[in-house]
Amino acid sequence: MEIHRLSALSDNYIFVLCDPVNRQAAVVDPAEAQPVLDCLERLGVELEAIFNTHHHNDHVGGNRELLTRFPEVIIYGGVEDRGRIPGQQVFLKEGDRVAFGDCQGEVLFIPGHTKAHIAYYFPPKGSTECGELFCGDTLFAGGCGRLFEGTPAQMVASLAKLRALPDKTRVWCAHEYTLKNLQFAQTIDPSNSSLSARLRWVEAMRRQAQPTIPSLLEEEKRTNPFLRWDSTALQAAVQSRDPIETFAFLRKMKDRY
Ligand code: ZN
Ligand code: FE
Repeated sequence: MEIHRLSALSDNYIFVLCDPVNRQAAVVDPAEAQPVLDCLERLGVELEAIFNTHHHNDHVGGNRELLTRFPEVIIYGGVEDRGRIPGQQVFLKEGDRVAFGDCQGEVLFIPGHTKAHIAYYFPPKGSTECGELFCGDTLFAGGCGRLFEGTPAQMVASLAKLRALPDKTRVWCAHEYTLKNLQFAQTIDPSNSSLSARLRWVEAMRRQAQPTIPSLLEEEKRTNPFLRWDSTALQAAVQSRDPIETFAFLRKMKDRY
């Protein structure tokens, strides 16, 4: 599966997925239609599917126009998002399968940012390949989404589900928030040398206006404080022994950062 990362709006990413054999394409979270249309034209492929992770406008804003241009396209989203995603035709729940061309993905139900949020995970096809995770606004590089419709306990369960995927999973999140996320992380986890090294790399990338997405799940596990609610260093930093309380406290600190 080829993945094309497109910039949209101020800091969103849209991902165009292309089956290289059948030349069929899907798009994850089209914030707007034009960059997707340009990409499809460049590739000379038809759009078969729109995979939405959740209903926020910066993830579904291009649905209508894409549907107009490709009347056969199928629009997927979470079952709890019924009525909130423009043009939604398929209502997905945990464990459902999705496909376009020869590529097959699995659905993970990961509420917290919104009550309906889902992720799409495409397992590796061979032992040397990475799996591909499209996780919208739930897991970010170095951070996680705000809790608009969910509780800390829900978000911890959702992030735990993502953390359980293989280390060699590429994380394709929907926003370029990495620098600010890691700057925050550094304030609460200053002795984490993997984190400092990652922050230096991200600073260098952003100075050259380069994207920091995708990241590798293995690196998120080492450096992302929102996957480390059970680390003794972070629990000590917030003076808690409870994973959910630790997470909730970190999330509150980040909201104010
Ligand atoms: Zn969102
Ligand atoms: Fe968003």
